[in-house]
Amino acid sequence: MLPGRLHAAADLKVGQKLAADAVVVGSGAGGAAVAAELSQAGLKVVVLEEGRSFAPADLLARPSWAFRHLYAGRGVMVGKGRVLVPLAAGRAVGGSTFINSAICFRAQDHVLREWERDFGSSWSPARMAPLFAEVEKALSVEKIGPEIARQNSLVFKRGAEKLGLAGDFISRNAPGCVGCGVCQLGCPIGGKGSVDKNLLPTAIAHGADVYSEVRVRDLHVKKGAARGVTAEILDGDDGATGLLHVEAPRIFLCAGAFGTPQLLQRNHLCNGSGQVGQNLHVHPGQAAAALFDEEIRYWDGVTQGYFVHLEDAILETFTGTPELFFAALPLGQMNLRKLKHAASAGCMIRDRSTGSVRWQGEGRLPEIRYELAESDRALFVAGARELARIYFAAGANTVWPLMNPTMDPARTLEQALAQLPGSLPAQKLNPYGSHPQSTCRFSADAKSGVCKPSGETHEVQNLYLADGSLFPTALGVNPQITILALATGIAREAARKG
Ligand SMILES: Cc1cc2nc3c(=O)[nH]c(=O)nc-3n(C[C@H](O)[C@H](O)[C@H](O)COP(=O)(O)OP(=O)(O)OC[C@H]3O[C@@H](n4cnc5c(N)ncnc54)[C@H](O)[C@@H]3O)c2cc1C
Ligand code: SF4
Repeated sequence: MLPGRLHAAADLKVGQKLAADAVVVGSGAGGAAVAAELSQAGLKVVVLEEGRSFAPADLLARPSWAFRHLYAGRGVMVGKGRVLVPLAAGRAVGGSTFINSAICFRAQDHVLREWERDFGSSWSPARMAPLFAEVEKALSVEKIGPEIARQNSLVFKRGAEKLGLAGDFISRNAPGCVGCGVCQLGCPIGGKGSVDKNLLPTAIAHGADVYSEVRVRDLHVKKGAARGVTAEILDGDDGATGLLHVEAPRIFLCAGAFGTPQLLQRNHLCNGSGQVGQNLHVHPGQAAAALFDEEIRYWDGVTQGYFVHLEDAILETFTGTPELFFAALPLGQMNLRKLKHAASAGCMIRDRSTGSVRWQGEGRLPEIRYELAESDRALFVAGARELARIYFAAGANTVWPLMNPTMDPARTLEQALAQLPGSLPAQKLNPYGSHPQSTCRFSADAKSGVCKPSGETHEVQNLYLADGSLFPTALGVNPQITILALATGIAREAARKG
């Protein structure tokens, strides 16, 4: 097949009709993996992506610009419960991988076994292992070293080692990383291996056409089988200039854990189980900070460099731009001149809390509900205690084990622990979630899942889901590698089926 192309909205005529063997909705982790797999199997693939395509030179290293241009909902999505939980997802060619920190963890075996036991999953640890290896190779995943981890991660490593905790440098898909620390604004040098740099070019080289700035609206189904989609051609300001029609006997929904359930809801499809938009997990994180006598310059170094795995939680160092970091700190608690002595890390938990996503109508943000369960609040407190221990063991003179305005800076470990009883009310926590998942979970049983473990929906033949929405339970680690591996496996099985 001749190579395809990356197209922008301006290349399209209003009312244009395309035909393909498969149409893929969304160009993030799931969509890119599906497109690469299907096109290498010889199928003609069309990928439709709502966001724009960005080259490194297009990017501005300003949070306000990045939220407006690279994030779903302009970066202002929240999960509503007793507290508001800010939620993030990408909206660009490359999806959330374009703005992620490039952390790569495989799903843990015990989670994959739980999916086999409780949801009839066919994705056993033995079946997933070669798929993980394959996507890690495609994305050039490598463990980072101290030269780009720099001080923010190295002081954390020092503390963890003093306590004898099992930690390590993080493996990342960023072969050209120089450690500038602004991954979440898009990589300004193109050093991150987001899927627009590897799997999408592979798909295009094998004949796939990728259309950016088109938002899929209608899913066409005839006689119980997928037939194609209709999308709006966007005008650069979220308005539509016209429609694009794609006829295809296979539809792959890879619009992410917020986008995929909304597409099914607005089309009144596949909800016999009542599970579309339910079971939302976000793998929430909660930040901590510390001050050292030595200079850390936390903004200098890879965005996330070192981790310690606890049961049902991971502690990961992270950096942010100085203005984002300062904005997150309790006001007035840190002298700006001390900022270069600050270090930061966070605790992410395998959440038992659940929420939901509901389509609210044309041009409106979805309604997202998310309530922090008691057990998750206790996990956050346990993580904060561990973060305080690590930072004091590393020699910090002040620690904020939870970044919340009601927490006092602790000068000693005892002061920190005294503020961290077994659990805390949600109002004393400040979580954030950028790993939405599970909103269209798979299950072999049509009564408890939207799609089968093969990704095909129970109710519409050849309508597949292949993104973060299909995890049957919370993954508990950063999800991109598991999404990429599952989407590759799903597309491979679908291509074989014909
Ligand atoms: C700030 C941030 C940091 C992260 N860091 C990490 C990390 O370090 N490691 C890790 O493993 N994970 C990380 N993640 C999560 C990871 O990137 C995502 O879990 C993963 O990319 C999700 O893949 P997906 O295919 O489900 O959806 P996405 O990658 O989000 O792709 C979905 C795409 O679908 C498009 N879309 C939605 N609706 C439509 C529609 N109607 N029509 C057309 N297109 C549509 C969206 O614009 C988007 O581009 C991070 C995420 C964020 C937001
Ligand atoms: S730390 Fe900087 S150079 Fe490295 S991947 Fe992130 S944005 Fe790119």
